[in-house]
Amino acid sequence: MVDDEVAGNELPFELPECYRALQAEARELAESLRPVAARADEAEDFDPDVRRALAASGLTAVVVPGAYGGRFADVDSLAVTVVREALAAESAHLDSMFGMQGIGSFALARGGSDALREHWLPRIGRLEAVGALALTEPDVGSDLKALTSTVEERDGVLRVRGRKSFITNAGDADVYSVLCKEGSGYSLVLVPADTPGVRVEKPHQIIAPHVLGDVLLDGVEVPADHRLGAPGKGFALVLDTLATFRVSVAGAAVGLAEAALREAVRHATGRELFGTTLSRLGGVPESLATSWVEIESARALTYRAAAAAARDPRQNLHLASMAKVAATETAGRVVDRSVQTMGRFGLVRGSTIERLYREARPMRIYEGSTEVILDSLAKQLVRRFAD
Ligand SMILES: Cc1cc2nc3c(=O)[nH]c(=O)nc-3n(C[C@H](O)[C@H](O)[C@H](O)COP(=O)(O)OP(=O)(O)OC[C@H]3O[C@@H](n4cnc5c(N)ncnc54)[C@H](O)[C@@H]3O)c2cc1C
Repeated sequence: MVDDEVAGNELPFELPECYRALQAEARELAESLRPVAARADEAEDFDPDVRRALAASGLTAVVVPGAYGGRFADVDSLAVTVVREALAAESAHLDSMFGMQGIGSFALARGGSDALREHWLPRIGRLEAVGALALTEPDVGSDLKALTSTVEERDGVLRVRGRKSFITNAGDADVYSVLCKEGSGYSLVLVPADTPGVRVEKPHQIIAPHVLGDVLLDGVEVPADHRLGAPGKGFALVLDTLATFRVSVAGAAVGLAEAALREAVRHATGRELFGTTLSRLGGVPESLATSWVEIESARALTYRAAAAAARDPRQNLHLASMAKVAATETAGRVVDRSVQTMGRFGLVRGSTIERLYREARPMRIYEGSTEVILDSLAKQLVRRFAD
């Protein structure tokens, strides 16, 4: 559970010591992987060095509950967020590997049987097993209720059929939480990757490489206790997952934005032209300072939202959603300004800033795109002010 200092009504303006220590631990891991970050961030499968180092660090224990070997009694959004901020500053691959262990296993932690939790969660917390959350389909993204994958129960067996698309960790995951239609509702089903009828294809490569693939489920059968939560109530578990982890995307975006600004400042202070340094020329100082202002603003909202989510995730989802929009849109603007400040040097393939530029882009689309979140916030706002 979150520190009393944060859990109370008074949020201190600095992170409590336990979170700062955790962030320092994550930063140390991330910096130790700097030499392999560029290679890992081009990988379409798990990078073995990154996996080994992350497992050895023990940090993935942050994303499972204490009863199953986790570091906190319950998964703590502020802890996940500050770790992701540190990891994403160095490597998107490392950040994704860490974050997805939680996103891919949270529905199991909340809605799984004791036997399934005891089997999977300690291994996920040690990164001996890899999780994934399969919602999206080839024709269905934001409008999830239009999904077509199905599950049917007969004689104590769940039969799953469908195709999931753009699933992070596909191919490397040991277990998938799959959202399916069941009667008039939607259920989440835990499907081990080695179940007969499960197949992975990798039809898409994206601009910022990511461990990503389509998961085909052809008449897959698992025992009835592999349904997570009550039949037809899978969306509640998806919402719980979002409420706990969405704000951590904001943390990753803040870390990435700061890394991009650091690149721009380093370049602008080292380059001389027109008899001065670039950092003092024309609109460059304003551009750098604007990025700094925006990053600090996004960080303040992100920490506040993460502390609120650690207290009560569902009640504070609106804050997590605001932080996700603010931080990912900030990251987009900051990387763009940083590239502009660096001129042609910002465009060089394989440079750090070029990698950050590409990696910032998907953040505004996954885990709730900016437009979908704003639409939902607008509806809540109208309800709130109409009361
Ligand atoms: C790197 C990456 C990793 C991913 N990992 C996973 C994963 O692990 N598991 C998984 O299930 N999915 C995953 N996804 C898929 C992701 O969740 C979807 O891309 C996302 O839900 C958006 O759906 P879509 O891409 O189909 O866009 P669409 O839903 O087709 O939307 C297209 C555009 O229309 C806008 N739009 C849609 N609806 C509205 C609306 N109501 N109001 C206003 N604008 C709207 C959107 O904002 C967007 O700009 C991943 C995607 C990426 C890029």
